[in-house]
Amino acid sequence: MPALKIDGQAIAASIQAEVAAVVAERVQAGRRQPGLAAVLVGDNPASEVYVRNKRKACETAGLASWLHRLPATASQQDLLDLIGTLNGDPLVSGILVQLPLPKQMDEGAVIRAVSPLKDVDCFHPENVGLLAAGHPRFLPCTPLGVHQMLVRSGISIAGKQIVVIGRSNIVGKPLALILMQKPTKAFPEAGDATVTVVHRGTRDLPSICRQADILVAAVGVPRFVTAEMVKPGAAVIDVGINSVDGKLVGDVDEASVAAVAGWLSPVPKGVGPMTIAMLLHNTLRATMIS
Ligand code: NAP
Repeated sequence: MPALKIDGQAIAASIQAEVAAVVAERVQAGRRQPGLAAVLVGDNPASEVYVRNKRKACETAGLASWLHRLPATASQQDLLDLIGTLNGDPLVSGILVQLPLPKQMDEGAVIRAVSPLKDVDCFHPENVGLLAAGHPRFLPCTPLGVHQMLVRSGISIAGKQIVVIGRSNIVGKPLALILMQKPTKAFPEAGDATVTVVHRGTRDLPSICRQADILVAAVGVPRFVTAEMVKPGAAVIDVGINSVDGKLVGDVDEASVAAVAGWLSPVPKGVGPMTIAMLLHNTLRATMIS
């Protein structure tokens, strides 16, 4: 039987509707409207699309949204000054600096300049530390999106063998933290699973992947995961966004893996929309905690 499709777009739509309902209730009660300030430096076409989609989702859910543009030639100080202004603006609950930044800028310094209370991407070291310590302030958007895809598809996480391919700060590493930690009142999303993270330094990566009940691909290599790497019946989540001959493809070879897996998230309409939905969720959360 072919794998069941995990419909990221439908799950994301229901999360956005939940956020919209809370936002409407807040606004009706005269409380502060959540607002996201997006910062776009330069004219990277992919970044333009990402920011446009994020702002559109904000507006649909009733959040305020602002776009601040800086030219590719802007200095790091220009960007730090803008972030300083947004940090101090009470109307701005969340700040999103779209990455990557132009070469002359130090990404780490920029991430550290965003107020940790407005860091809806959860990239600031203070928020990463809180996540690692088991009492997170925010959960990063893409890993939280993967978590919610599993939970809302009825795929249990606790006690499972999970393999995450990729150890980036944005996806692999924080996802592993969310899925492996012990659930507590402060961290109810914690997965309580057994998690293995594999990467370029891993020996016999396919055989480790074959042990996974849940396999997450965050590699950045088109169609990296093939049927031989998948345990029959496993849930396979494809985080990858790659362009091949102008077509969007994931890190999973859908054609072969669908015949073996029990569940499969597609690209497009999988993790991508979930990331945006969780950004709205985090912006609402930022309004509530500040
Ligand atoms: P990244 O920073 O480039 O990290 C990729 C990871 O994959 C690294 O840990 C790397 O290992 C590992 N890897 C690469 N090639 C490998 C190979 N041949 N064998 C084993 N491991 C390999 O990428 P990322 O930011 O995590 O993103 C991963 C993918 O997800 C990209 O396609 C990106 O566009 C996509 N993405 C999607 C969303 C979304 O919303 N859907 C959000 C973020 C990212 P080493 O550490 O050993 O180099």
